[in-house]
Amino acid sequence: MSDLPVIDSCDDCGACCIRTPVPPFEPGEEITRDVPKDLLIPIRERIAADQHFDLIPCVWYCEESKLCRHYDYRPAACRRFEPGSDACRMSRWDVGVDI
Ligand code: SF4
Ligand code: SF4
Repeated sequence: MSDLPVIDSCDDCGACCIRTPVPPFEPGEEITRDVPKDLLIPIRERIAADQHFDLIPCVWYCEESKLCRHYDYRPAACRRFEPGSDACRMSRWDVGVDI
């Protein structure tokens, strides 16, 4: 583990958002987080288009800034995704961030 690069920031990454097509809300979580209805429209549209299992960027992801457009409303699953964790490193490797 000591040979692995330190990852303590999400700056210029976004790898975990690139393969998560819609914000991964638990059932009803968007209500408890009081997510504005207009932010839910692109989620519903993508699911209705049956693209939700494709490995494509999240509808809330900004490819230009490599950040979540609605960070304050992000789901618990995204909040648990720690920079430097095994899952983080896998995502970065998967999209070639560290190559
Ligand atoms: S948690 Fe890891 S993979 Fe996700 S944006 Fe941050 S550094 Fe990148
Ligand atoms: S942090 Fe935002 S852009 Fe990334 S997967 Fe979660 S909701 Fe989508």
